[in-house]
Amino acid sequence: MANTQEIGKLRNLKKLGDLLYGCIACGDCRTAVRYTVGRYKVCPVLEHTPGFEPFFARGKMQIVRGLIEGRLKLSQELANVIYQCTTCGDCHATCHQSMDPNINLSIGKYLDHTKIYEALRADLVDAGYGPMTRHREILEWCKKEHNPYMELHQNRISWMPEGVDLPSRGELVFFMGCTEPYRQPEIIRKTIKLLLFAGMRPALIHPEEYCCGSVALRTGMRDLAEELALHNIRALRDAGAKEVVVHCAGCYRTLKKDYPDIYGKELPFKVVHITEILNRLLVEGKLMLREDFKNGRLTYHDPCHLGRHCDFYEPPREIIKKLSGVEFIEMKRNRTAAWCCGAGGGVKSAFPNLAEKIARVRVEDAKEVGANYIVTVCPFCENNLRSVAEKEGIPVLDIVDLF
Ligand code: SF4
Ligand code: SF4
Repeated sequence: MANTQEIGKLRNLKKLGDLLYGCIACGDCRTAVRYTVGRYKVCPVLEHTPGFEPFFARGKMQIVRGLIEGRLKLSQELANVIYQCTTCGDCHATCHQSMDPNINLSIGKYLDHTKIYEALRADLVDAGYGPMTRHREILEWCKKEHNPYMELHQNRISWMPEGVDLPSRGELVFFMGCTEPYRQPEIIRKTIKLLLFAGMRPALIHPEEYCCGSVALRTGMRDLAEELALHNIRALRDAGAKEVVVHCAGCYRTLKKDYPDIYGKELPFKVVHITEILNRLLVEGKLMLREDFKNGRLTYHDPCHLGRHCDFYEPPREIIKKLSGVEFIEMKRNRTAAWCCGAGGGVKSAFPNLAEKIARVRVEDAKEVGANYIVTVCPFCENNLRSVAEKEGIPVLDIVDLF
């Protein structure tokens, strides 16, 4: 019997309607292994938690139904489990209900796992059980200084190389994000230098650029995420942006997929990833790649927010394959079946030990194929993989380190 009072609190889940009934409880999201398509297991969290149902997709889907039908209530205990998910989307990539074009259940192919988890988190926030304490601290700061790193907004461009003066308006805008300006300044500095070297002069909309809102969205702080998104969309539009270049995988997913949903219509600009631009500049002969990786065996780690979430797999690989004198080698789990680095969905900040255990498995994937460099294009993946890989003597590079 439904508990109407409880249903009334589930405003985000309720918006998803029949989507919540797509799971047929087959259990493939528990441990599917499909050698022919390079799939070896599914949920990175399940492998390092007690392994009970709520830690992987099938249990989450049952919980959601239980909540909607009034058989379960939101609670702190539930929140503590639901936040132990990197929102990597590997369950979505495995599930027949989301992937099989021949599915004949009327609602099956619309099952969108991470959308459901994010809605559940938003309802946990509404009910006062989410996000986790560390998320709340980070996001309180984000409200004040527009970044989740406890830094001052005015310092977002402290990385800027001396003597470089970029416009604040223009058709081409570089969206900086937060992680690179505040935590990996060498990456953003290098990215801008590459664009300038190739004759491009992107605008930066500082001080109007705020956090993209990814952390807030993934952890269920929807009101804040929407506020940040609408601010950025207006600022980019007012700056005359026609093309917005993004480097960070989290920003890319948020601008590309979440912003149109939040805005409610097509964005007034196109969102492109930095690897698309770098590839083009390489083909045009305006940039050159390093030549000091001789005898290197490089592998590429697909960031979940870029790969599975946005179906973006090839441009980074095309750049790596243009390096001379190196071997590009795929890990056995790649593209849609890539193993997550462990950092996403707020796991790194709230459950750092879990994040590191997952990263260790991913580094083992790289070691297994004999890679001596891991290349990726996400500051979260880089940071988390590096914490394990460097102890193993395997450098983790950003794509711009190849130039
Ligand atoms: S989420 Fe998909 S794979 Fe997992 S039990 Fe449900 S239908 Fe099966
Ligand atoms: S999104 Fe990733 S971590 Fe979360 S349940 Fe699915 S496979 Fe597991």
